[in-house]
Amino acid sequence: MPNRRNIYFFYKKDPNLQSHIDELYELAGKNGFNVISDQKEANIIISIGGDGSFLQAVRKTGFREDCLYAGISTLSSPSLYCDFHIEDKHHMIEAMTLEKIEVRRYPVLSAMIDNTTSFYCLNELSVRSAIIKTFVMDVYIDDLHFETFRGDGMIVATPTGSTAYNKSVNGSVVDPMLPCMQVSELASLNNNKYRTLGSSFILSSSRTLTLKVVQDGNDYPIIGMDNEAVSIQHVEQIVIQLTDKRIKTVKLKDNSFWEKVKRTFL
Ligand code: NAP
Repeated sequence: MPNRRNIYFFYKKDPNLQSHIDELYELAGKNGFNVISDQKEANIIISIGGDGSFLQAVRKTGFREDCLYAGISTLSSPSLYCDFHIEDKHHMIEAMTLEKIEVRRYPVLSAMIDNTTSFYCLNELSVRSAIIKTFVMDVYIDDLHFETFRGDGMIVATPTGSTAYNKSVNGSVVDPMLPCMQVSELASLNNNKYRTLGSSFILSSSRTLTLKVVQDGNDYPIIGMDNEAVSIQHVEQIVIQLTDKRIKTVKLKDNSFWEKVKRTFL
């Protein structure tokens, strides 16, 4: 990575981490990297924590396409977004300086709420009722009214998000080399009056998913974007698409998505 030299470290202040952070700064300097305090000047952004920290690092730095993101895990092992481990810093520097890494590109979703506010998501967008009352949405695929959903809510996951919330509701794990989005239900009501597909479905990158919230008083859902949530009153519709934006992350040569899935779940 001879042309990428400016590193920004993203982490929560934690006295237990400080000695690791100091060591990382020192190692970076010794190996010809500049540690930057303003993320705008960085071309490498490294999160320290877990997958949750990686998601925050990407969100707080604006889903930058001109940067390479990497995750250093402080948990018991590397995780889905973190290829490196805090106890193995030398491995990371060695991988970066000896060009042992490849770049992988992760698809990102965009969600537009009521034609005014738009957000990106690396894991998923979730829409859930904020009250103990079923939540009703008309689900459109492109212009087709596909179903009327009644239940707790829905999750729309990217391929890398497929191993997170989506997996907990029995969604499929999707190879990030397939740019697509997966729609999964949260506790749909299914009876003679209300009917939904009942299984997760996967949409190609050229589809648009529109969720029209039925205005029956329960129109103040919690909208989750990865690990952040917004509550917007009187939401009428959410338009979700896969974008052309890609988050570039480092990939060690012996650490494919499926190796990580195996390591994490099997
Ligand atoms: P959290 O509630 O503290 O932890 C959620 C867990 O999911 C953590 O163990 C996290 O890993 C892991 N995780 C995050 N992204 C993942 C991915 N792409 N593949 C596999 N595991 C993943 O929240 P958080 O750490 O800030 O993460 C936010 C995510 O939590 C959301 O995007 C959503 O997917 C997930 N979530 C899951 C459920 C559920 O399964 N019922 C409910 C709400 C939210 P680390 O420990 O490495 O951070």
